[in-house]
Amino acid sequence: MLKRILSLILIFLSLGQESVRQMEDQLSLGGNLFLVNKEYMIGADYVPDDLVMPDVKKSSSAVLMRKEAAQALEEMFAAAKEEKITLVAVSGYRSYQTQRAIYNRRRKAAGKAHVERFVAVPGASEHQLGLAMDVSRSKTAGLKASFGKTKEGIWLAENCYRFGFILRYRQEWEDVTGYGYEPWHIRYVGKEHALRIRELDVPLEEYVEALRLAGQEYRQNEEGNP
Ligand SMILES: [Zn+2]
Repeated sequence: MLKRILSLILIFLSLGQESVRQMEDQLSLGGNLFLVNKEYMIGADYVPDDLVMPDVKKSSSAVLMRKEAAQALEEMFAAAKEEKITLVAVSGYRSYQTQRAIYNRRRKAAGKAHVERFVAVPGASEHQLGLAMDVSRSKTAGLKASFGKTKEGIWLAENCYRFGFILRYRQEWEDVTGYGYEPWHIRYVGKEHALRIRELDVPLEEYVEALRLAGQEYRQNEEGNP
């Protein structure tokens, strides 16, 4: 992991100070790279101010996303449809309170060991950012690991980067992301970052960490050379 981060830092530094600074803006709350996980939690009162309902096939009427991400989702679902792939949006924005209700219900039903790997405690879910979406292949198929082996799941994994999304929870990254394999959960980061994250094949945690360190490196150099 350290080796991956070091090579990532070098890649960011090769892009130049101006690009790194612009990308760093995306790390703050409201930015497309804002990191939420068990370590970096989000406040109970954060609600994005540009939530809209994407015009896509949904499993319920209450699926919301931030505007830019919703547009990207619409583009992606339309592109999938052209290739005879049906995708269904199951769960997008979730408030802190909704996440708490889900967490409590799943903990009661499935137990502590399960929720630790698959259900975020309130404040630790990136669904609260309005930038995440759980995707299924039909309104009733639910969210299962087997989705990753279906033609829809394979299409999603191979194509989501073209629309600015990344597959957030891969099996081999569980020790970094803190969550088990979720082939249905995509996170919007914007096209530029999604493409780079795909090429580098790294979890968002490492990408964000390397970007922060590259930014720090530039600031330290500035301080050393006024
Ligand atoms: Zn999810």
